[in-house]
Amino acid sequence: MIGSSVVFRARSWTVLLLGLLTTASSAAFAAECPGHPDALGTSRTLVVDPREHPRIGTMQYRETLPLKDHEVVLTFDDGPLPKYSNQVLQILADECIKATFFIIGEQAKANPEGVRKLVAAGHTVGTHSMTHPLTMDRMPIDKVEAQVNGGIEWTSAAMTDPSKLAPFFRIPGLMRADGVENYLISRGIQVWSADFPADDWRHVSPDRVYQLAIQRLEAKGKGILLLHDIQARTVAALPKIIRDLKARGYRIVHVVPATADQPATPTTAVEWLLHPPTETTPIARWPQVPNFVYAQTATLPAPGLADLNAQTAHQPQLLPHRTMAQADIASTLPAPGRDLFAIPEGSVEVLLSTTLSRRAATRLAMAAEAGRAGKGKAGKIKAQRTAHAAHPAPKHAAQAKSAAPRATRVATSMKKRA
Ligand SMILES: [Zn+2]
Repeated sequence: MIGSSVVFRARSWTVLLLGLLTTASSAAFAAECPGHPDALGTSRTLVVDPREHPRIGTMQYRETLPLKDHEVVLTFDDGPLPKYSNQVLQILADECIKATFFIIGEQAKANPEGVRKLVAAGHTVGTHSMTHPLTMDRMPIDKVEAQVNGGIEWTSAAMTDPSKLAPFFRIPGLMRADGVENYLISRGIQVWSADFPADDWRHVSPDRVYQLAIQRLEAKGKGILLLHDIQARTVAALPKIIRDLKARGYRIVHVVPATADQPATPTTAVEWLLHPPTETTPIARWPQVPNFVYAQTATLPAPGLADLNAQTAHQPQLLPHRTMAQADIASTLPAPGRDLFAIPEGSVEVLLSTTLSRRAATRLAMAAEAGRAGKGKAGKIKAQRTAHAAHPAPKHAAQAKSAAPRATRVATSMKKRA
């Protein structure tokens, strides 16, 4: 009696504890998004160090953010443009979603209040050049620098606290080039590509933007979604995208840069690959060639002919002639006899050695096989005819062809009997 009472009490406590935990988690979720109990919310904050992983986004690079399955990062380019950016901000606020915005310097200059709104709402703000040129891949490096710096200057100038600017940059039109990336990386700025766009800059319907966003996300299972907060179709598609993300069990991740106070989220190298190789899947890429550190960099002199043990008496002719080593081999090894390469006349091997007689040889071989298998009178006849066809052996392809029909007739008659 006492024992069962203890078990009962323990079960009661477990039920009570589980109930409290459930209540606590839903209460915490409600507190995260007051007034919006059904919000998608932001599941976690990922802190990244741009110097450790300078290029991200599998549309262009090997690495992407270390997201878990069904985790999504929302990014918005080309703003702020009050008419649409404010609506995007409201939609995100209603869902308690934190995103990353890539600002154009000219837009920040024209609408600094829009930049401050982003920061006030807790979003991450990076930059996207000064004037959004689609030629950065072939631009002189001084113009690249002016574009990068102009965007940073005007965006940070719009902020109350310029330290809020993230060292994140997205190249306009994703027109990457080594020189552009190297410049950004030298300044400790992370180059953000994306894992999939939704084509919201093209003349497509909002429904198409929604479909592409979901289809491409589903294909990869997680990743960085590229959107634009200056498009009416994006504003129209965004609520539906977010509702569908929630229905499909996706979670939003907010990305922020590491600082002295906030170290990078601990990750392993393979987590930065969209689909890390496993023991059951073949490796799609060859390992990179390591950077060798050479102990000595002096170039050795080119070897002279004398180093190769060659006779140099007739060098001006530049004709190949025997080295001493070749002469030694020639003097010690006997020449192979002709019979070593001999193949018996009329054998199948001889017929097979020429293209024209190949069919005849095949027929001969078939006939020989049929003869071995055959029994009784027909077998004997076939064996005789086969022997007749094979001896004397035809010396040319034409003779082989003339001999072939006889063997074929035998083979056909055997076939009828079988
Ligand atoms: Zn853009």
